[in-house]
Parts: sequence; structure tokens; C-alpha cells
Amino acid sequence: MILPILAYGDPVLRKIAEPIAHTYSNLDQLIENMFETMYAASGIGLAAPQIGLPIRLFIVDATPFAEDEDLTPEEQEPFKDFKQVFINAQILEEEGDEWVFNEGCLSIPDIREDVFRKPEIKIQYQDENFQTHVKTYDGIIARIIQHEYDHIEGILFTDKLSALKKRLIKGKLTNISKGKINVDYKMRFPALKKKR
Ligand SMILES: [Zn+2]
Repeated sequence: MILPILAYGDPVLRKIAEPIAHTYSNLDQLIENMFETMYAASGIGLAAPQIGLPIRLFIVDATPFAEDEDLTPEEQEPFKDFKQVFINAQILEEEGDEWVFNEGCLSIPDIREDVFRKPEIKIQYQDENFQTHVKTYDGIIARIIQHEYDHIEGILFTDKLSALKKRLIKGKLTNISKGKINVDYKMRFPALKKKR
């Protein structure tokens, strides 16, 4: 089932998400719905708060990068089977010199901006079977995980922009929260929700 994606301005996107237990009801179905929702919106990552659930769960499917012609076959390799569920994730370490990458977000359609982040992360998480893993990632995969991880901490990529950039996109963000935007996937807009 495709779920509506919450737009910028929804208070759920600002909550620090709560951990979940393996007894969380209908988790398999929820994960399946999240993948379906993400693919319908041509996304490569989706966090539970974006569909209105303030829980520590996000999904990543980086396989489209395996066909990215800007990358060499060697660079494409790590993306080939990178489809993963992250439950109760905690980033343990972030290292290296910050690098810039152009980010976008399904909750903030039509805005893409360069964001600085550290290149290497060490993360502890549980998979969909509640097996615990501690792994290190770098490059674009780390970047996608950092972006989704921010969602479960109530942070959006626009928070990381310069004061000037923030001022420049303020009007656009207000329009997004009011639903004044053309988007080809299902969304829910906070400003519209309050209306009778
Ligand atoms: Zn996002």
C-alpha cells in the first residue's frame, strides 16, 4: 500500500523518534508499505517519520546508483545489492573531512541543495529480523544513511544550509507546507490538514 509522504512543516518530522521492539505490530507489512511508497516516489531512502510514524526505522535502496553512468563500474559495484532496513539505528562515529553532495528529500520536493557531511560513519542497527549489526560505510551510501538517520532525529537537510541559503528557500518551503507545489506522488500537507 502506498502511503502519503508528510511534507515539510509537519510536526512529526521534528520529533526525535522512539526505538521499537520486535513485538511492534505489523512491522513486516509496514516495511513492505514503506518500500512501495519509496519506489512510487522514485526515492532511494525513506524514514518512518515521513509517513507519520515517529519510530526509529528507515529504509534505503541505493541500487539505482549501480546504473549511474557518471560512476565507473568499480564505483557502481557497492550499490548493486544495497537494499537495507535500519531499525533502532545509532550512529556511533562520523569521521573524515566534510564533503559536499547535492541532497534532496521526498518531504521537500523540488529543492536540492549542496550539503556538507563527514564521509565515514560507523553505525549500529537492527535489521528486519532484529539481528544487531555494527557496520562502517563511506561515500554515497554513508550519505544516504546520514540523511535518513537525521529524519529519526527530527533533522532535515535544509537545517544544515547556510543562513543565506535558508533565507533564499524560505518562501519555497512555506509553499511546500501549504501544498502549493506540483508533485507526482502522494503527499500530506500540514497547512491543509488544519483546515476544516
Ligand atoms: Zn529526506
